[in-house]
Order: sequence, then structure tokens, then C-alpha cells
Amino acid sequence: RAKDSGRGRICTFTPDMNRRVVERMRMLSRARLAFDRQSFSLQYQPQVATSDGRVRGFEALIRWTDAELGPVSPDRFIPVCEDSGLIVPLGLWVLETACIEAMGLACRGIGGITMSVNMSAVQLAQNDFVPRVLEVLDRTGLPPNRLELEITETQMIGSLDAAIDKLDALRQAGVHIALDDFGTGYSSLTYLRTLPINTLKLDKAFIDDVHRRTDARSMVASISRIAHDLNRNVVAEGVEELAQWEALSRMGCDLIQGYFVSRPLAADRIDGFLAAWEERRKSLPIVSRDDV
Ligand code: C2E
Ligand code: MG
Ligand code: MG
Ligand code: MG
Repeated sequence: RAKDSGRGRICTFTPDMNRRVVERMRMLSRARLAFDRQSFSLQYQPQVATSDGRVRGFEALIRWTDAELGPVSPDRFIPVCEDSGLIVPLGLWVLETACIEAMGLACRGIGGITMSVNMSAVQLAQNDFVPRVLEVLDRTGLPPNRLELEITETQMIGSLDAAIDKLDALRQAGVHIALDDFGTGYSSLTYLRTLPINTLKLDKAFIDDVHRRTDARSMVASISRIAHDLNRNVVAEGVEELAQWEALSRMGCDLIQGYFVSRPLAADRIDGFLAAWEERRKSLPIVSRDDV
């Protein structure tokens, strides 16, 4: 415990804080080891168009099961990797692996698929962020318009202009940009207007009640309308039920992502999913949009 009396009292280091620091240090050293041994992996979650039920893309999601720590959620280890800078090489590995997977799909005749990859604020803040992304596209051969980078608005805080310039440069090259987790934190309509994004991803928090509460429905309907007026696509995240699918299609949501369609899949299960989905797709209600 830090000296908590007298001149210059700075902080009190409680046993609880101490435990958290030790836990994070342990997680970081395990993550470094996992990175060196290439034991991270990716799963891919489909995104489906409400207009025809077809698969339009996949979101790459990182997975890690550590021998000592067991399965660790990205919500826990990504912040640790961000604080330490490990996210920079790790994020590059994610990007390259996802691009290679997307190329593989194209080679197997599964065309027109977009691969979405989550980007950390720390990656975006690197000076060479744009050339790094373009290099990976070059190396893997994936056409830039088959890649979508997902960013969140919390990543903009502090360096908005620099971030906008980088995103603009990527857009110029054809890469798509999505604003992730819209509806959490301090989501602002200003970002929706000023950021050079193609796609707005509505957070699961908005989607959970969309089929049973009018207030949730009017939020989603209004935001979708604004997004469409601004020429952005709308993706609903965390869709788990048919009733949500129906409500969201009526409101003009363009794409659906969530357990209702599929959980995130290991790469070797994508083809099986696509075959099964072709069957299931036929029984989906393709509803006409309300006038939104
Ligand atoms: P996100 O980008 O918003 O991803 C959506 C999360 O919701 C994923 O959690 C996904 O598995 C989960 N999800 C999808 N559909 C449903 C559903 O119907 N119900 C429920 N309950 N959950 C659903 P996951 O994979 O645990 O990832 C959590 C977060 O970690 C991601 O949120 C993203 O912010 C971050 N993340 C994941 N992979 C990466 C990565 O490669 N790089 C970076 N920087 N962040 C990543
Ligand atoms: Mg995401
Ligand atoms: Mg999200
Ligand atoms: Mg999230």
C-alpha cells in the first residue's frame, strides 16, 4: 500500500488492484507466447442480406484458448494487447489471415463475399496504418472492395482528424469502413455524418428488444432512416430470433448478423454452413420494407 498520509499522497494500492495488475501481466505474457507460437485463431460469422437472404460477408473474430488460462474472450485480452502494443502485430496477423480466407472462398467459387475485420484504436493510430493495410491486400491479392474494416467511435477520441484522413485514404483505395457497436457508449449522430463510413453496425443492445418494444423499434427505425439518407448501409448485430429478423427487415436493415443465422464458425465449417444455409434461406420470410 502506498503511503497514504502526509505530504504528496499519490495513490492507494489496494490488494484488489494488485491482483488485477498481476492478472493482466500474466495474461500479457501468455498472449505473447501464444502469438509467438501462432496459437490464436479466427472464426467467421456470416452476414446475410434481408432483401434475399443471401450471405454477403463474414466478420472475422479472434479466438484464443490458452493452456493455462483456458478460453479467454477477446473482450478481456484485446485491451491487454492494446496497452502493451502487442495488438499491432496481432492485428496485422488477423488482417492477413482473414484476407487469405476471403481469397480462399473466392477460389472455391464463393464470390461476392466481403470480409470484415475489427481494427483497434492502437492500430489506427500507427503512422503506417494505411500502407500496412494496402500491403496486406497486395500480398494476399484480395480486391480492396472485398475488405471492410470495423472501427468504433471511441477510437476516434483525441485524433479525429488524423483518423478521418487515414480512413479517407483507405476509402479512396476501395476499402469499406464500418462503424461498429453503434448505440453503446456515447454514440453520436455527428460521427455518423462526419466519418467516412460505408456501413453502420447497430449494437446488440438496440437489437435485443426490437421485436417487443416500440421504443427500441422507433430508435432503430429512425437511425436506419438517417443512415440510409446519408447513404450508409445498416447491419444489425446480435440477432438471435426470427421475430427480430422480421422486425429489422421491415425497418429496412440491410444485413443481419447473429446467432439466428449462425454462431461464428471455424474456417473449415464455412462451406458446410453455406450449403445448409441455401436450404434454410428458402424458408425465410422476405418481407417488404415499410416506407422508411
Ligand atoms: P464486435 O466486433 O462487436 O463483435 C460482435 C460480438 O458479438 C462477437 O463477440 C460475437 O461473437 C458476438 N455475437 C454475434 N452474434 C451474437 C448473438 O446473436 N448473440 C450474442 N450474445 N453475441 C453475438 P466476440 O467474438 O466475443 O468479440 C467481442 C469483441 O472483441 C468484438 O466485438 C470486437 O470488439 C473484439 N474483437 C474480436 N476479434 C477482434 C480482432 O480480431 N481484433 C480486434 N481489435 N478486436 C476484436
Ligand atoms: Mg465488429
Ligand atoms: Mg459490434
Ligand atoms: Mg463489440
